[in-house]
Parts: sequence; C-alpha cells; structure tokens
Amino acid sequence: MQNTVTPTHCPYCALQCGMNLTPAPDGTGVEVSERADFPVNRGALCGKGRTAPAVLSPAVRLTSPLVRSEGGALVPASWEEALDRIAEGLGRTRAEYGADAVGVFGGGGLTNEKAYGLGKFARVVLGTSQIDYNGRFCMSSAAAAGGRAFGLDRGLPFPLEDIPRTGCVILVGSNPAETMPPFLRYITELKENGGTLVVVDPRRTRTAEQADLHLAPRPGTDLALALGLLHLVVAEGRTDEAYVRERTVGWEETRAAAMAHWPEYVERITGVSVPELREAVRMFCEPGAAMVLTARGPEQQAKGTDTVGAWINLCLATGRAGRPLSGYGCLTGQGNGQGGREHGQKADQLPGYRKLTDPAARAHVAGVWGVDPDTLPGPGRSAYELLDALGTDIRSLLLMGSNPVVSAPRAAHVEERIRSLDFLAVCDVVLSETAALADVVLPVTQWAEETGTTTNLEGRVLLRRRALAPPEGVRSDLEVLHELAARLGGGRNLEKGFPTDPEEVFAELRRASAGGPADYSGITYRRLAEENGVFWPCPAGGPPTPSAADGPPAADSTGTGPVDAADAEDAALDALPDDPARADGDGTEAGVHPGTPRLFLDRFATEDGRARFVPVSYRAVAEEPDDEYPVLLTTGRVVAQYQSGAQTRRVDELNAAAPGPFVELHPRLAERLGAAEGDPVAVVSRRGRAVAPARITTAIRPDTVFMPFHWAGEGRANTLTNPALDPVSRMPEFKACAVRLEAVRP
Ligand code: SF4
Repeated sequence: MQNTVTPTHCPYCALQCGMNLTPAPDGTGVEVSERADFPVNRGALCGKGRTAPAVLSPAVRLTSPLVRSEGGALVPASWEEALDRIAEGLGRTRAEYGADAVGVFGGGGLTNEKAYGLGKFARVVLGTSQIDYNGRFCMSSAAAAGGRAFGLDRGLPFPLEDIPRTGCVILVGSNPAETMPPFLRYITELKENGGTLVVVDPRRTRTAEQADLHLAPRPGTDLALALGLLHLVVAEGRTDEAYVRERTVGWEETRAAAMAHWPEYVERITGVSVPELREAVRMFCEPGAAMVLTARGPEQQAKGTDTVGAWINLCLATGRAGRPLSGYGCLTGQGNGQGGREHGQKADQLPGYRKLTDPAARAHVAGVWGVDPDTLPGPGRSAYELLDALGTDIRSLLLMGSNPVVSAPRAAHVEERIRSLDFLAVCDVVLSETAALADVVLPVTQWAEETGTTTNLEGRVLLRRRALAPPEGVRSDLEVLHELAARLGGGRNLEKGFPTDPEEVFAELRRASAGGPADYSGITYRRLAEENGVFWPCPAGGPPTPSAADGPPAADSTGTGPVDAADAEDAALDALPDDPARADGDGTEAGVHPGTPRLFLDRFATEDGRARFVPVSYRAVAEEPDDEYPVLLTTGRVVAQYQSGAQTRRVDELNAAAPGPFVELHPRLAERLGAAEGDPVAVVSRRGRAVAPARITTAIRPDTVFMPFHWAGEGRANTLTNPALDPVSRMPEFKACAVRLEAVRP
C-alpha cells in the first residue's frame, strides 16, 4: 500500500465527490478524509462516500472465482478454470446459435476504460450486436431528448458552479437531499444569492421542503405540467421572440401543441392548481437567468423523452438554453452514468458518442480497432428487451457491474429469464442477487484498488487513483477481457487489442473518440491529475471551443424578449466564473484545448447551430389506475443505500440508517386499509406482490404510494414496476404503475 494520501473520487453517484484515502492505522485498508480542493463537493461527503472503504473488506466482497458445481452450488475455483468455463460457455452458444445469441450487459458504474473495453469486446471478439447496460434505466430519456433538441447530450451543459448564480431553478423529479446531499449546497447558495427554487415532485421530499414553490403532480403527469407552463408563457407574452427566431427552429408547431393544453385542463390532469402554475411561470420568467434540471422523475417514464422534451421546450421558448447561467440539464444518477453512455456499451452507439448506424463513425472506430467496418454488428436490443430475450433468442450472457434481479422492471420475470439461460457469467465485487444465479462469478477489483477515469454529471472527466492493492485472488475487469479475448479469438491474437493497463486503454479510447461528439482526444491522465478534471469535448491540439465571450451572442435578444434583456445577459456573462474555454492566455498551453465547461453559448450542436423545438402532447401513464388497481406506485431512493444495494447493503452503518424497504402512504389510504405505522402492507400490481412496513405521512399524495427499490426479497419494489417502454429511449416506466394495497394479517 502506498504510504501517502491518495486523492481520488467516491465509487457511488454521479457527483463523483473528491475524497482523500490514507492507509488505515491497523494496515487493513484505507480511511476516507476530506479533500477540499475538488470543487464539486469541497470536502463534503454523504454517508455512502464516508463508508465506502467498508466494501473493500474481504469480509463482504468476493476474493475467489466461483463456478457452479455438479451439485448446483457455487464453489471456489482457480482463475484458469473459471475463465476457461466462460470461454467454453459463450463459445458454445456462439457456435450453436450464432453470435447474436450471446448477450453482454454492462453498467453505469464501470470506468470509461471498462465501458470502452466491454463494447469493443462484444463487437470485435464475440461479434454480437446484443449489448446494452443498466444506464438505459437511468438517463436514456434525457439523453434522447437532449440529443434531438440540441444535437448533443451532455448531462449538464454547464458546471455546477453556475447554479448559485442563476435566478431560478426548476428541479423536476429530483431529490438530491437523498441521492446526492453535497449538491444541496448549490441550492443553499442559490437562495442566499436571492434565487428561487421550484420543485416538481409528487412527494414533499426533504428537497421539496427547501423549495419556494412545491408542485406535486400525480406521477406520470409532468409532461402535462410542462405543457401548461408553456401555455401560460405564451398567453402571458413571456416568449423570447428574438431568441426563438434566431436560435431555434420548429416553434410554431410546438406553440400550437402547448396552446391545446389549457391551464384548467392541466390542473385536472396533474392536480396542480392554476394559481400554482401561474406562480411557477412568474418565478421562472423573472428577468435574468433560469434553469430546468431533471432527474429520474420525468425520465423514467414510457413517455420520458417527450416529458423531458416538454421541459426543454419551456427553456427554449423563454430563451433559457445556451445562455450564460441558464439552460436545461440532467442530473445523472450512476457514478459513471455520463461516461458509461459515451464509450460504446450502449446498444446503438460506438465510442465518442458516435452512432453505430453512421458509416463514417463505423469506419473511424473500425480503423482504431484494426477491423473491417463491415464486420461490426449493427444496433442491438435495449436493456429491458435484451433481458426479456434471455433464454430464448439470447442463450448466454456476460454481465459486468450490474444487478438486474433487483434493479430491472418486472424483476421477477427478469429473474426467471436469467434463470433460463444456458450460461451466465458475472463479474462483480460482491455476490449480488444476480451473481448468485451465475454459472461462473469472477471477483474483480473496485474503485480504490485500480486506476481509471469516470465522467461526472457535468461532463468533467476525472481520474480515480489506485490507493491499495486488491486482495489476492481478485483481478481487474480489463484483465478479464484480455484473457477472454485470448480464449475466444480463435487463434487471432485478439488479446493484444485488450491491454490491461488502464492508461493504455484510455489512450486508445481517446483515438476512438477523436472527432466524435464526446471528444476525449485532448485529455490525458497527466492532465487529469494536474487539472482536477477536464470537461469534454476536448479535442487534441484543437482551438478552444468558441464561446459567448469571443463575440456577441448569436441571437440579438435585446428589446423584444421580455425575460432576457441585454443588461441581464451582460450581467450573466460578467458573473460567469473563470472558464478556461473563455480565457485569453490564462496559462493553458499553446495548442492544448482547455476543455469545454459550457456548451451551446454560441450555437447548438446541430448542423445549422439552432436548437430544435419538438412538439409534444400529453398522454397518460401506460397503466392508469382502475377499480382493481386504484393507486399509483412510484419508486425512488433513500440516502443510505445506492442503486440495487449490492454494495451498500453490506455496510453496517448504512444498514442501520436504512435497514429495509417501506411503503410510504398517506394517512387517508392507511385508514382505509386499517394499517398503522410499521404494519406490513402488501402492494400488488399486475406483475407481482411486494410486502414492506407502512410509513404513514402527509408528505405524499393520497392517490400515490412510494417504495424505495434498493432491496431484494419480498420487499423488492421492482417486482411491481411496469416495463412499458418509451418509443425513443426504450426507458421503462419505473415511475408510475397501478397497484392495490392489501393489509397483511399475522
Ligand atoms: Fe458524493 Fe454521491 Fe459519493 Fe455521496 S454517494 S459521497 S454524494 S459521490
């Protein structure tokens, strides 16, 4: 173990908080201490980050490969035996059924290098099109909506430090008090600076309690809410006509769609009153800057792309996108939720955020990989569709860093599909519920035991550093890919294309990304270490991205735009903190691109530089309540657990804080059910039944119940959720399904 302080980042959520690791005094691991130099969290950590070293302990993690014995148990095995069995299992399926009968499922927690390696492995070694990852369940609707409006999706197109300097933030379906507590300081500073916060959430969460205005729509109706706000913007003459004219296309159709959504009609759909709608519009349209930030609430819907698109339309109509201290952004969830979607583990994408269907993109990436572009498969199934095809079209699966038995919608069905596979191999740090079903489990290194990069929710590429050696018997995912490439290459020496040194993989990733939307080619490990992260796009040796500071804004928004007077724009520009992409000779090396903290200030990433309005109309949730299932279930997170809980449920301190699932319900529902606080309540949907103790509160709508989804067993919330898919993003409808409640008598 190194005997020094190692600056690195938390293994969990997309904030990627900075932390220092030092050797534990008893020599058995590392301790976390404050790292104040990282600007995102300035030393603050939540309980998950503080306790992250607990998962490094051999007491809770895997330290030996496991293989399924003849008797059906998972038993320890050598690495050679385990790797041979995986190669044999995947190879046999490929030989018998063809390459597309082998599936690959990745994760948004994998480093950029691993995500890149996994996508390349699937397409070059296995030759399968059937690869996707759990990030599909995270931000794919925001990615789809951002891509079609702006020509490019980057979670936040501006750094977090802009948030306190804006005028109003509408936070839609986001609860950072539970998901990423250090983020709240940006909200606190916003309010200290005189800004306002509007929270849209069916529950009065700890985040909503800080809002100046809390709108609590029925789950799955925020598309109507956004349309109602846009209707009022137009009706009250608050459209920024000059901005719309100069920087967008498609306004007339979008305006017409919004005008069909009368406030009274929206009130009936959402339960949010017309005066509340008017107040939200007033706050958002105060002169100056404003932002809309979305998270899983609007995104995890079968109409998630259109719902996010409606919020983007609101930003565009009011001149709020691509302006200093203004804009639309998505608060990504998983640790590498941003980078995980950029490097090729997504069903339809190649590294550099390139489209798999684009001949030029295929030629470029194939050139870097040294293969014929015609041999690269086309797009495959999305995550749920892939899981649904297990045991039928897809006979074998290699899974890395994901736990769909807990995290996928309609989880009992997904579990049954996984059990029906001919062969399952899982690489993980712990024996998750999915790993427990595998034929072979490989124990792999984790955050503090390996070097690699992640990209946080701002598009800031970061260096995670190795602080201690992994236990004996544990290898990295990159070594796994190297070894499997050797075994499955059929004498083609494919393992040479799968280096085990992460910096070497990153160098190849940079070449593969060069010229693509997410261009990393100018980013090196040395720069990441010296600069505390670099924002993409960052082309090698290219000139800085043009910005508003280099000249007048493309739109002349003075005079006619009621919300964005020239003075306000000048003030916003003056208020921008130092931005290397805007600096003149600020010390960045000549010919070295400084990175791009702020996107779209002069033009959007479309061919003509203009943003696209996309007209959308309200449609109901895929499964409306009825007599049999009269209540809506929505799911989410609690602060002491992370995602499927595979890691955090192994940490005593976190388990003490959040020991198990619960059903949050309004007193009126509880009374009708005859349930008291803590009584077991059964929640039943068309897909199954889950049981958890009642938590009774007026902080939730009387027509809605809430369950956190971090647990397996009888309290597994995803047993209930609806896999109805968004037609564009293929996102399942996690956030709203019809259920009934049943009292559970002892
Ligand atoms: Fe920060 Fe997220 Fe880690 Fe908590 S879980 S310390 S908010 S990165």
